[in-house]
Amino acid sequence: MLVLKFGGTSVGTAERIKDVGRLIVGGKAKIVVLSAMSGTTNRLLEYAGYLFKNEKYAARKHLNSLKQHYYSIIDELFNTSSGKGKAEGLIQYHFEYLDSFNRDLFTHFEEKAVLAQGEMISTALMHYHLEEIGITSVLLPALSFMRIDKDQEPDNYYIKENLERERIQHPDANLFITQGFICRDVFGEIDNLKRGGSDYTASIIGAAIDAEEIQIWTDIDGFHNNDPRIVKNTTRIDELSFDEVAELAYFGAKILHPTSVRPAQLKNIPVRLKNTLLPDSPGTLITEKVSGKGKIKAVAAKDGISSIRIRSGRMLLAYGFLRKVFEIFESHKTSIDMITTSEVSVSVTIDETEHLDAIVEDLQKYGTVSLTNDQSIVCVVGDLIAERKGVARIVLNALSDIPLRMISYGSSSNNISLLINSSDKDKALNELSKQLFK
Ligand code: ADP
Ligand code: ASP
Ligand code: MG
Repeated sequence: MLVLKFGGTSVGTAERIKDVGRLIVGGKAKIVVLSAMSGTTNRLLEYAGYLFKNEKYAARKHLNSLKQHYYSIIDELFNTSSGKGKAEGLIQYHFEYLDSFNRDLFTHFEEKAVLAQGEMISTALMHYHLEEIGITSVLLPALSFMRIDKDQEPDNYYIKENLERERIQHPDANLFITQGFICRDVFGEIDNLKRGGSDYTASIIGAAIDAEEIQIWTDIDGFHNNDPRIVKNTTRIDELSFDEVAELAYFGAKILHPTSVRPAQLKNIPVRLKNTLLPDSPGTLITEKVSGKGKIKAVAAKDGISSIRIRSGRMLLAYGFLRKVFEIFESHKTSIDMITTSEVSVSVTIDETEHLDAIVEDLQKYGTVSLTNDQSIVCVVGDLIAERKGVARIVLNALSDIPLRMISYGSSSNNISLLINSSDKDKALNELSKQLFK
């Protein structure tokens, strides 16, 4: 069994939905995971924004314009009156539901239900389209099996059991379609796997069914060696290891959701990145194998980082100091990305600033705390074994004009991370490409 995930642009227009229809028909049995059509999740988020501010008129206007957009897609996608009728009924149903939030109190719980409608619509449109062209598919409701636990982690046992229960109701089916991104929380309320979460859905499902391969279909021909939105002439990488991709995705490579390879990695299921517009292009294959000995593979950057430095004379020769510092972050459920230490101070970075004030207040018990916002972590990934001399020099040379606030090297053999001001990020990525991949 294969798992194929198609992102927002891959199903972004009527024409693209038809293209995906052609790609998924026939061949091996598969579960197809779809994102919302491109732009929809953002527009639903804007709608929720109006509802939070209680701007009822603006909210309705916004929703109507999105609804009209869907009617024009239906016009193009369906040829038969029965197909069109079903799709119009679908849009009517989901937009009435969305409109119902414009009457009551609106909280973050309702927002999650609003955001879920994009994937509900895209998957149903695909299902009706396939039906119209005579292809049988089964719509698997993600909300009946995809669930996260109290720590926001996938509840793998529940997912496996319930997905299996849904699947065995259709013993002869070989084409299943389901929603990416959406899930239920530990209380059974609608939730999601965070932005870009459809990749994660595909990997979680792949692991749950022990898939032969997980394919992530998107709008680019594979994993590139730098961010193509910022650097010109980036090139595709043929093969990457799970560990390399985990670092790159976590540190900002938008092509994959930050934690999306982990479920696949735990089950050692190959992940292939493919381009929906160029289906014959080989894409990027991600497995446990590390290829390209001694090579730097790629660079990525993550914004929205805050760095915190704690200076304390008491750190000198003191054991247990770091434990106390880490316990503060743990108690505020905030994870640390980078750490550097000297004899009298320790600096850490975080990307989750919800509890920042409380963290700083707690840390002040142990020393002088200084905070810097608007930072970016640049991450250089490859086979960077310590025996290979000069890797750090090449990286540092490339960044010789850029103030480096922290450097982390040596904790793994595949990553060098550097903290810089976000305003220097574009320059840093371009300089690194020039020096590393010339
Ligand atoms: P989807 O909607 O299919 O999930 P995304 O927009 O989330 O697609 O991810 C694909 C985009 O990721 C590409 O169009 C590209 O601009 C961006 N991207 C950022 N870094 C990389 C990278 N290292 N390699 C490839 N694409 C990248
Ligand atoms: N539709 C969701 C988003 O825009 C999930 C995804 O596309 O992966 O974030
Ligand atoms: Mg994505």
